[in-house]
Amino acid sequence: MNEQANLLESSTKNLWLPFTQMKDYESDPLIIESGEGIILKDISGKEYLDGYSSLWLNVHGHRKKELNEAIIEQLDLIAHSTLLGAANVPAIRLAEKLIEITPENLQRVFYSDSGATSVEIAIKMAYQYWQNKGKQKKKKFVTLTNNYHGDTIGAISIGNVDLFHRVYGSLMFPTIKAPFPLQYRSPYSGEAEVKERALTELRAIFQEHHEEIAAITLEPLIQGAGGMNIMPGGYLKGVEELCREFNILLIVDEVATGFGRTGKMFAIEHEGVQPDIMTVAKGITGGYLPLAATLATEEIYKEFYGEYQEMKTFFHGHSYTGNQLGCAVALANLKIYEKEKLVEQAAKKAEVIKSELAALKRLKHAGDIRQLGLMCGIELVQDKKTGKPFPWETRMGYHSTLEMRKRGMLTRPLGDVIVFMPPLASSDDQIRKMVQIMRDAIEAVTEKEKTVV
Ligand SMILES: *Cc1c(COP(=O)(O)O)cnc(C)c1O
Repeated sequence: MNEQANLLESSTKNLWLPFTQMKDYESDPLIIESGEGIILKDISGKEYLDGYSSLWLNVHGHRKKELNEAIIEQLDLIAHSTLLGAANVPAIRLAEKLIEITPENLQRVFYSDSGATSVEIAIKMAYQYWQNKGKQKKKKFVTLTNNYHGDTIGAISIGNVDLFHRVYGSLMFPTIKAPFPLQYRSPYSGEAEVKERALTELRAIFQEHHEEIAAITLEPLIQGAGGMNIMPGGYLKGVEELCREFNILLIVDEVATGFGRTGKMFAIEHEGVQPDIMTVAKGITGGYLPLAATLATEEIYKEFYGEYQEMKTFFHGHSYTGNQLGCAVALANLKIYEKEKLVEQAAKKAEVIKSELAALKRLKHAGDIRQLGLMCGIELVQDKKTGKPFPWETRMGYHSTLEMRKRGMLTRPLGDVIVFMPPLASSDDQIRKMVQIMRDAIEAVTEKEKTVV
């Protein structure tokens, strides 16, 4: 057996892939061997445009010289030492930088290693903050429909994506659910009305339960995994004001939206919002290494500060918290943002994407097309006029992305919403090429008489 055949066989025999029906994978396995810029190459030598930034992480493309060098340089010093009771140099420097680029009120950085862990930390931090403060009743979390915060038990508890969470219901802690604003969207209601109705509903929830609510959690401006849903302008600002009025902590999850994705460094900047706790991961290392951070205000931090005997310590940590290689590459990553004025560039790229996506609207089965910066969702529907979805078991989204793969581009759908989230460094030409592939593939799959399930 040659090496390639051996890898294919071994991958189906030994691996269990995340969010993957292994029966699907087996029928057409994909094994990536290398990457260069925004191109990925599999073991047979076939090349693919990275249309989903290797699942929303990659920023500058693969094998970026400065990032590779930062890791090698740090390796010559040390790869990892624990952050439990001991700091390290790149962790300190990166914390300074994160505090500098996030809203003024965020003054403390707590590291971890994935988006989900940064969210678990936010939950426990908010919860214990009120305990330490003597407000023992404030224990509940408010969350919006279709929120997504990761896959660990705490993160799915404050999440709300039915497709993911149906199975694990009895493992989750209960939360108070508020409607995501777009739920009300109809041809008769404008954006301002949608916003007002949602805020009125949230106010009613806060009014009734504020004495037992610790925090509200949300993804600012755009929900990612919940289907690329965009908030009406001013809604997030309105939530911030309600939080202040009712003494409720505001936790924003910038894991997907952070680091330039939406055309600003952080999505909250679009509305000048100052959260009490903020989580970041994904783009923080340019898509290189698992690193995440939870940022908090000094007000929260000081409720944990005191004599050990007071039992105010934040009892949380992970083995690889503050990993030096991760922090070093994150620092190098942020340096490139400055040098290349990447956030401004991303805003310009977003304009290119916008005009390219307009052509997709003409497709017979393209429904809503949603975009904020470099985060896009293309909804596939059976009937464009009524918005009637395809029967779920036809898996139009899935089959369309398989077709894209054949045509040289990788992405993954969210149900029948095709995700388009290219690396910030994609060239205009590459963007055009990817949109063309998406258009051809969607057309080929959805306009066939019958689709094989
Ligand atoms: C991806 C994501 C997470 C989870 O991050 P992981 O690193 O996959 O654990 C959390 N929140 C949001 C908004 C995300 O998009």
